[in-house]
Amino acid sequence: MAEKTGTIERDASRRVALVTGASRGIGRAVAEGLAADGFDLALVYAGNEAAAAEAVAACEAAGATARAYRCDVSDAEAVKATVDAVLADFGSVWALVNNAGVTRDGLLVRMSDEDFSRVIDVNLKGAFHTTRALTRAFMRQRGGRIVNMASVVGLMGNAGQANYAASKAGLIGLTKSVARELAPRGVTANAIAPGFVETDMTAVLSEGVVESYEKQIPLGRLASAEEVAAVTRFLVSDAASYVTGEVIRVDGGMAM
Ligand code: NAP
Repeated sequence: MAEKTGTIERDASRRVALVTGASRGIGRAVAEGLAADGFDLALVYAGNEAAAAEAVAACEAAGATARAYRCDVSDAEAVKATVDAVLADFGSVWALVNNAGVTRDGLLVRMSDEDFSRVIDVNLKGAFHTTRALTRAFMRQRGGRIVNMASVVGLMGNAGQANYAASKAGLIGLTKSVARELAPRGVTANAIAPGFVETDMTAVLSEGVVESYEKQIPLGRLASAEEVAAVTRFLVSDAASYVTGEVIRVDGGMAM
């Protein structure tokens, strides 16, 4: 039934998901999967207009109303404006998937302050910004789902990724605090810790590095973005209503 709950005319029986980093990789697979599960989609991306347009088209092909929002999640004011726009456009948000992430790898002795800060600002503060901007709406709605895309690196550490590992470990702490704070309002918050996933982020790794990673993975291969999306789809579903504050590894057994 087409109805106006926000400024967009859409089927108001469909829940809305806001996915950051939804233009490519894991976020794109999450958005497409949620579209197939009956969600309408607000897709946040950093700057790749063409990829964002493709992701919107893929969600629409799966039956969703979808719109892309360009926003650097490290910018608190921009996030607030984007979240306000999404709420005005769609009327509500049921699921927030904090997936936007970057790497600036380097060994400690050569890691600059800028590279350390940028990764923390996008991966950790970005999730804080979106979560804070949506918290009042979640509390009023007395229900909702938050999924934060962490990493096994946040559990294990990784040489050359001190900034990234710190951001992902921090994201796990944020997840558990949000889970405790919002549980009384029926909002769950969980983290996913993927191992190595075939996306643009890992496409830069040399064949030798990928082979050495594969040797550490009991299942012997990298994950597909869809395999990570599948767990995200579960966590935002009604089936996951009693799961909160959890960290689910999707890593082929790598960090067990
Ligand atoms: P990806 O292919 O590099 O895509 C990154 C996505 O994040 C893009 O949509 C990009 O938008 C967006 N993005 C980057 N910086 C942003 C910012 N400042 N504000 C808003 N959006 C931003 O990454 P991925 O491999 O799918 O990774 C997704 C998440 O999973 C990340 O948090 C990553 O740390 C985590 N993860 C990945 C792996 C892996 O092996 N790939 C493993 C564990 C965890 P544009 O397209 O506009 O640039």
